[in-house]
Amino acid sequence: MISDKISNSIKNSSMIRAMFEEGAKLKKIYGDDKVYDFSLGNPDPEPPAEVKAALRELANSEELKMHSYMNNAGYPEVREALAEKINSETGLKLGSDNVVMTVGAGGALNVVLKTLLNPGEEVIVFAPYFVEYNSYIDNHGGRLKVIDTDYKTFLPDTELLTKSITSNTKAVLINTPNNPTGVVYSKKILTEIANVLEKKSKEYGHTIYIISDEPYRKLAYDVEVPNILTIYRNAIMIDCFSKSLSLPGERMGYIAANPEADDIASLMGGLIYCNRILGFVNAPALFQKVVAKAINSSVDINIYKERRDLLYNSLINFGYECVKPDGAFYLFPKALLADDVEFKNRALKHNLLIVPGSGFGRPGYFRLAYCCSLETIKASLPAFKALAEEFK
Ligand code: PLP
Repeated sequence: MISDKISNSIKNSSMIRAMFEEGAKLKKIYGDDKVYDFSLGNPDPEPPAEVKAALRELANSEELKMHSYMNNAGYPEVREALAEKINSETGLKLGSDNVVMTVGAGGALNVVLKTLLNPGEEVIVFAPYFVEYNSYIDNHGGRLKVIDTDYKTFLPDTELLTKSITSNTKAVLINTPNNPTGVVYSKKILTEIANVLEKKSKEYGHTIYIISDEPYRKLAYDVEVPNILTIYRNAIMIDCFSKSLSLPGERMGYIAANPEADDIASLMGGLIYCNRILGFVNAPALFQKVVAKAINSSVDINIYKERRDLLYNSLINFGYECVKPDGAFYLFPKALLADDVEFKNRALKHNLLIVPGSGFGRPGYFRLAYCCSLETIKASLPAFKALAEEFK
């Protein structure tokens, strides 16, 4: 039989998956276009034309050993291209040896946590947060410490952060643009976090890292997403192409670190080694080459912006409370019942698939993923309105 731990974890596991299954049942009864599915963060726009062109070119290439094992860090020329891109945007001086190609951002997070954590060390995350962090931190013997963000803005509270750091804190894991709130952290707030960690690292005599999980960095609407490597020397940046190029199934991401970070050689050596021993070995060969060729492209973010504007403005008109998201493709409004799981059930009666905020460590809210078609959003609006009216 499978282990007790995994068996229990499966029982308690993701509400998002549960919604997916409920949705499939409803779609069978009512038809696809009568069920409004806002549950999964699976991008629906097709990848940009550059991705398809790169794939065609590579398929016709006579290059030998294109599908072989490689250095566990990934192809040097792909890492070089990413380092140069970061340098051109920031003025930093990363080399190819400051970049490791990974199996998506999920793979990258596991590699980073495996590399950094001694048993029992703490990783601080800000609620609400991407729920997989629970498992990823546990996978490597770490302890998750969740602290709340401000109730009005979902921004980290640096005073609370200062109080929460102990001699056992190894890293603070941030996510901007954020899943589930869509909030983007400004340079000011990132600098405040960095200042706290600088001070606490000195006080405790060891490096406290920022791990910055940034799958949505290219999906920001009219605001800058500052590069964390320019703000904190001991930051580890994680990016992927799952959302920016609509390639989640291809599992392509990377880790980048500042060449000035403490003991950078051992950090990079650890990351490369962990990429190998976690069984990833190296990131998928073909798609490393594809993303390098499409390095300057991204999905048209106006597609998401139009959806955000329609959904956000409509919900506010119907009486929902919500922070206006500046990035990613999520909205995180307040549930109209304190019990967000019950609220999700009430929404289901209107064929609305939403995810309770408890699934992200913030009960009393719900998440909407607007990576579904504009038509679905338009068709769903009467249902959101009717749901709100039930609580007036
Ligand atoms: N981190 C966050 C905040 C995410 O929302 C996701 C995916 O939805 C991931 C990491 C995982 O990304 P990937 O599919 O590239 O592994």
